[in-house]
Amino acid sequence: MANRPIVTRTVDSLRRALAPFRGAGQRITLVPTMGALHAGHLALVREARRRARRVVVSIFVNPTQFAPHEDFGSYPRGFAADLAVLRAAKADLIWAPSAQVMYPDGFATRIEPQGAAMAGLEDKFRPHFFGGVATVVAKLFTQTEPDFAMFGEKDYQQLCVVTQMAKDLDLAVKVIGVPTVREKDGLALSSRNAYLSPAERTVAPTLYRMLKASAARIRQGEPIEMVLEEGRAEIEHAGFAVDYLEARHARTLAPITPRKERPIRLLVAAKIGKTRLIDNLGV
Ligand code: AMP
Repeated sequence: MANRPIVTRTVDSLRRALAPFRGAGQRITLVPTMGALHAGHLALVREARRRARRVVVSIFVNPTQFAPHEDFGSYPRGFAADLAVLRAAKADLIWAPSAQVMYPDGFATRIEPQGAAMAGLEDKFRPHFFGGVATVVAKLFTQTEPDFAMFGEKDYQQLCVVTQMAKDLDLAVKVIGVPTVREKDGLALSSRNAYLSPAERTVAPTLYRMLKASAARIRQGEPIEMVLEEGRAEIEHAGFAVDYLEARHARTLAPITPRKERPIRLLVAAKIGKTRLIDNLGV
């Protein structure tokens, strides 16, 4: 069994713990998470280890990216299990600040990302979300000063927003996207899958099946709008309430006009019962 990772809970102790790594010239990769770790997160940790000698995993359920009606209170939390998993995955350091450490009394700054953050996808249904994400990720980056930071393609718009923010703010971190890890039946791993009832869990993989079939049809030259209309009908028929199903430019997330922009990314968000799932796929 690997050494127990160092756990830090204040910015000072984080910096003290990182100093010897830096002093030894070791590169550092940051893997930001909200805990409730699964094999998707572990793929990020594995990729992190390939890039740098030291791996820092942050665990912080960020209150500012949840709206009042969302699941901040009930979001799955289990520090002991996360610690065991990260020890086995040979993470070096866990950065687990409290909300009070991250946002002390008097905290008064917020980053408002534009561009991909205003593409009319997640932002349309969670207007507070990317401001919360950009602000906390900027803090995580300045606290940790990593050489690399790993983000999942699972949250594709978030990956675009964070990449842009790091570039715009001249942060010396390379943001790296990691392909989505899926269950055998195609369902993208997500901490929120724990909310699904057995019946909903059976229906949930329809989302990925539809994305795969739609991508194949678009590749074969079928009209995008028709493919998306039928894809939407298919998942609605399966029981989903669809927030969006869209084809966008894979880098800018701008809408696709017939035949021009490539590469294309399909992005979907839909609710099954009370649980909101998102997924995406390159065409
Ligand atoms: P979260 O804890 O949900 O905020 O996710 C932390 C990081 O893990 C984000 O960069 C996510 O995109 C990534 N992630 C979550 N689920 C998956 C998955 N199934 N495959 C790959 N990365 C994922």
